[in-house]
Amino acid sequence: MAEYVLAIDQGTTSTRAIIFDKKGSIVSVGQMEHEQIFPKAGWVEHDPKEIWNNTREVIGSALSKANLTRHSIAAVGITNQRETAVVWDRNTGEPVYNAIVWQDTRTQPIVDRLAADGGVERFKKTVGLPLATYFSGTKIVWILENVEGARAKADAGDLMFGTTDTWVLWNLTGGTDGGVHATDVTNASRTMFMDLETLSWDHSILEAFDVPASMLPEIRSSSEVYGHVHSSSLLREVPVAGILGDQQAATFGQAAFDPGESKNTYGTGNFLIFNTGEEIVHSKNGLLTTLGYKLGDEKPHYALEGAIAVTGSLVQWVRDNLGIIKDAPEIEELAKTVDDNGGAYFVPAFSGLFAPYWRSDARGALVGLTRYVNKGHIARAVLEATAFQTREVLDAVNADSGVDLTELKVDGGMIANNTLMQFQADILGVPVVRPVVAETTALGAAYAAGLATGVWGSLDELRQNWQEDSRWTPNMDDAERDRQLRNWKKAVTKTFDWVD
Ligand code: ADP
Repeated sequence: MAEYVLAIDQGTTSTRAIIFDKKGSIVSVGQMEHEQIFPKAGWVEHDPKEIWNNTREVIGSALSKANLTRHSIAAVGITNQRETAVVWDRNTGEPVYNAIVWQDTRTQPIVDRLAADGGVERFKKTVGLPLATYFSGTKIVWILENVEGARAKADAGDLMFGTTDTWVLWNLTGGTDGGVHATDVTNASRTMFMDLETLSWDHSILEAFDVPASMLPEIRSSSEVYGHVHSSSLLREVPVAGILGDQQAATFGQAAFDPGESKNTYGTGNFLIFNTGEEIVHSKNGLLTTLGYKLGDEKPHYALEGAIAVTGSLVQWVRDNLGIIKDAPEIEELAKTVDDNGGAYFVPAFSGLFAPYWRSDARGALVGLTRYVNKGHIARAVLEATAFQTREVLDAVNADSGVDLTELKVDGGMIANNTLMQFQADILGVPVVRPVVAETTALGAAYAAGLATGVWGSLDELRQNWQEDSRWTPNMDDAERDRQLRNWKKAVTKTFDWVD
């Protein structure tokens, strides 16, 4: 009997295949990193072919580690780094350019051009997003305008666009041999092109961007059978039955199915998602309005999202560009050599500031320095930056929703850091809670796929799988918390107006 579900997690730094059993426990993991390509300052690319090859490899290694074959796999789910844009030739399957990654800021001039007529909030009512380099739309425009021959091919209907879920799905289901060109509502909601109410592409926005509709994938729900894996794969004939963008997948994996429930993921960046149920809530405080999930023909669930561009990637930067730590976990040892930040605050506005500021003119700042500050204090300021940014996003969620969150469910690579998690609870003033299965992103995709194929019968069944692992409770007095927040906000203002 096929009773396991395989989730493909196509992330920013790596691609994983994770096999889950019915309890939502991990049976095996295959993982491969891919190259981060930085051709110029502000540019970030991935090689789509490398990503697809790695996907095939990690599926093989997850199956062999678990000693399972395709006959035991009931369904495949896909979750992915969102917004990252791939454009390829539908006849050859060859990408016309590298994938332009969500962090890439090269499209600022395109953003400015589009914003000249109506400002950055020009399409916000329809799509829930401000114009920003972050979302897929301007990345597609850049490829059409800068890759030789791309515009003509697009006009002839020969190009396909997809976020990496779509790229993986198309290849997995056969590529040029009948691959399915589709995405789910959560990924579509990050392009700038999907109408939040109708869940279809908005043709007037496509016209404003000058992107042909023929390039775009079909928008489907997050949980249904999109197609079956092609005969050339180890998983041949297994249904692909779930797709969720990584942050929505993590929310689903945290069983935050109902309005008022939320989660915060600490990875390359941080993403707090707050479920608003069937209601589309437009933020007054710098949050994005996005799709939470949609199960088959059921009504969609919407969400508010606080996206922070740089959190874990600041730790990588300290490792790679400063070289004062050898690996990410070492930041905690260094931070523990001191008692506090020594007055230093690090605002990592490397690609502008996302929520709640949305300032593309901001650049990073390390402030409050004196002769006293050493690398331990800087390590602490680096960790605290993640916690302060999260606090500001939580304040925005509380203001928009009118209710105060009473605890925060967390996941992602950085939550292994106890010092950070304790400081996070301290600076929020509410407990921070982590589940036993911290691979919530892959789990969410597995859940979506398993719900569509009968592995799981209901959301209630999934809710029973969620178990608390650890909890950090606040241990800072109010006056100190207020002082820290005041200083942080002052530091943020020092990052503005750095780009002319
Ligand atoms: P993503 O899914 O975005 O690739 P992950 O959830 O795998 O990210 O988290 C990886 C990030 O977490 C990296 O940016 C890394 O610097 C950071 N990280 C990993 N372990 C630690 C740690 N112990 N302390 C602080 N940061 C960490």
